[in-house]
Amino acid sequence: MSQYILALDQGTTSSRAILFDDQGQPVAQEQQEFRQIFPSPGHVEHDPKEIWESQLTVARSVLANSQTDADNIAAIGITNQRETIVLWERETGKTIGNAIVWQSRISNHICDRLKAEGLEQTIREKTGLVLDPYFSGTKLTWLLENDSELKSRASRGEILCGTIDSYLIWKLTGGKSHVTDVSNASRTLLFDIHTQEWCDELLKIFGVPRAMLPEVVDSSGVVAHTDPEIFGKSIPIAGVAGDQQAATFGQICFEPGMAKNTYGTGCFMLMNIGNKPRVSENGLLTTIGWRINGETVYCLEGSIFIAGAAIQWLRDGLEIISSADQTEQLATSVSDTGGVYFVPAFVGLGAPYWDAEARGLMIGLTRGTTRAHIVRAALESIAYQTYDVLDAMKRDSGINLAELRVDGGATANDFLMQYQADILQTAVHRPVIQETTALGAAYLAGLGVGVWESQAEIAKKWTLDKEFNPQIDLAESQGHLTDWHRAIERSQGWQK
Ligand code: ADP
Repeated sequence: MSQYILALDQGTTSSRAILFDDQGQPVAQEQQEFRQIFPSPGHVEHDPKEIWESQLTVARSVLANSQTDADNIAAIGITNQRETIVLWERETGKTIGNAIVWQSRISNHICDRLKAEGLEQTIREKTGLVLDPYFSGTKLTWLLENDSELKSRASRGEILCGTIDSYLIWKLTGGKSHVTDVSNASRTLLFDIHTQEWCDELLKIFGVPRAMLPEVVDSSGVVAHTDPEIFGKSIPIAGVAGDQQAATFGQICFEPGMAKNTYGTGCFMLMNIGNKPRVSENGLLTTIGWRINGETVYCLEGSIFIAGAAIQWLRDGLEIISSADQTEQLATSVSDTGGVYFVPAFVGLGAPYWDAEARGLMIGLTRGTTRAHIVRAALESIAYQTYDVLDAMKRDSGINLAELRVDGGATANDFLMQYQADILQTAVHRPVIQETTALGAAYLAGLGVGVWESQAEIAKKWTLDKEFNPQIDLAESQGHLTDWHRAIERSQGWQK
């Protein structure tokens, strides 16, 4: 009898379900979008009911459409939008309000207050994160501090909280399991990544009662079984990880120094740094990648706010291209940018600059500049920003990158991938399977129930689509980087 793994990928804009066979090949897929709710400027919510219903619908329809019986599903793997937080009643499962989404800045004032109290350093050392509304901690503070009744109910264990993995497991088990995996816990600001426990000092700082928190479990191994009502038969849930960590696992970055970069709207880069956490001195996050059989892998994480979004801006803002696909042909129609550099600091600069006042610029324009030069400069900016984050990772970890594994929509652009290899002076490897997030969850789950014996067995499944090797020398690459950094300097501190 064939065995399949069902991966549930609960993302920010849609819920997806992908069925993988026991060779790790995707065989069927379903996707459903749900509503983005914007109650006030900078505040973003999701309706937990829509999250659950869309996830359940796609899970059921992927089985129905592929004529796969629940009997053939060896395990379920869950991966999810990270940091987003949900509250619900233990007794009834009824949710309290909407989920507060990672993008929401609603708790910015709480971060400011905690910074003024001088707590930033303590929080950074314990959690590996920065004190920012992006993470779950201050979202919970915000939900609880204006509702004393809610807070006392939470203290009595009547109200539970969880990130999306936790909420889905609660629903899938019919309210039997309240758990989260270490990778998700490490994004809450409440979890000490050194001891790997919820931390009393942090709980006090953020005003979060311990009684409302889930039990923290490994990322692989059976954590619960689904309620038989849901798929007609109980299925083990055996893999859980936040989306970026799952993608890192799906890219088989199992050894220290291995890294992946996802090129989407922004870029998300993670580097495996081994079994010991190291707090970054270059503005990166330290996070838990996964824990398997009690053994923890830590990662450094850096994100770039504007990557593919710069291409969207060329299309929708400047209107100089009609589709993203066109950019490759345009960029290669010229031999270089003619000295043009484009810093897409539309919303400031992230790691390693952390300059909220930086704004976008194009510099080096001459009478000879054409749209092809500008398009090429936009693509090159994605490669330069990736270099800057990887360089910070290298300085923090002391590890030299052997290769960069890539995924995401913009990796379809061969010019960008080649230029990335040139600038990094490192090989860039693009795998056949681009669904690395769902694949990572499937691998964790399959490993958890013994569909695959070991990580070594899984590692053999990674298949190269295309390899890009540096075609320019180090001096030329550094020449470009020097000019890029001159452009960066000019973009900084612009906004008054
Ligand atoms: P997300 O998951 O963030 O929505 P995707 O992985 O779907 O992103 O990738 C979409 C992004 O990739 C868009 O920002 C788009 O501009 C960019 N993109 C898509 N195709 C190309 C291409 N051929 N060249 C450059 N950028 C591209």
